Amino acid sequence: MKIIAIGRNYAEHAKELNNAVPTVPVIFMKPDTALLKDNKPFYHPDFSEDVHHEIEIVLKICKEGKNISEKFASNYFDEIALGIDFTARDIQAKHKEKGLPWELAKAFDNSAPVSNFLPKAKFEDMYKLNFHLDINGQTRQKGSTTDLLFSFEKIIAFVSGYITLKKGDLIFTGTPAGVSKVSIGDHLEGYLENEKLLDFYIK
Ligand code: MG
Repeated sequence: MKIIAIGRNYAEHAKELNNAVPTVPVIFMKPDTALLKDNKPFYHPDFSEDVHHEIEIVLKICKEGKNISEKFASNYFDEIALGIDFTARDIQAKHKEKGLPWELAKAFDNSAPVSNFLPKAKFEDMYKLNFHLDINGQTRQKGSTTDLLFSFEKIIAFVSGYITLKKGDLIFTGTPAGVSKVSIGDHLEGYLENEKLLDFYIK
């Protein structure tokens, strides 16, 4: 499986990092070795002084497709979860400055914690999903899929024009504003609507 991630998909987050709001989706990937499941602790890597949390809605692809049209794209994911797109912001800043790819900042081991998946059918409207991330009991990021720049269908249509999507692939759909540094000892709790799905520590 592969993990595809969308950058700058919430305008307020693009702005907080002084990035332009994109006109086409910004895409990067994480390898399967980035996946961290079952609320296992995240061990802070020593190559970064500034690892940021980015809470995101994650889609699970349920069948293979390429060149999927937006109209049929919703048939290609049947479950959603919450994930954290951990980002070594200091490394990313250096690479951005030089116009280099982001992999060292985004694709490192365990940089993609993902919660259990819930059936899409459980939710009335994919574009009224509220989610938030608490750290040590305080809400740090709060988002709603109402504010997505590119819908889930647009993302699937766009990505599948370049990269075949396969059953089991995951798509991280972008983070709302409020990203910041995590430290050893932090307790992260992620909620989708009022259900706590992520609950783990930084070690
Ligand atoms: Mg992200």
